[in-house]
Amino acid sequence: MKATIMYRNNWFGGDGWTFYPVKIEIADNCPVCGAKRGEPHPRSYCEDGEWYSVDNWENPCGHIDSYQMAYREHLRLKETKGEDTTVTPFFR
Ligand SMILES: [Zn+2]
Repeated sequence: MKATIMYRNNWFGGDGWTFYPVKIEIADNCPVCGAKRGEPHPRSYCEDGEWYSVDNWENPCGHIDSYQMAYREHLRLKETKGEDTTVTPFFR
């Protein structure tokens, strides 16, 4: 499934001051139990006085996907496909 999440550079050892929405593609199914993930829906979100739109989804199985884990899954999927895994912001 495709979703927009908030990327944070401190996930990869950055200073934590850089964050922006990124579009990701991850599996349609929960990585823990294999059940179908919930549908992503956009949510307005405010950080440091700036408004962003990012997706939230609730998995019917009850397992919670963090943005960081979803982003890592997205990178692994790209790696599997032999695609460039450089972080590419579409915002800023
Ligand atoms: Zn699950």
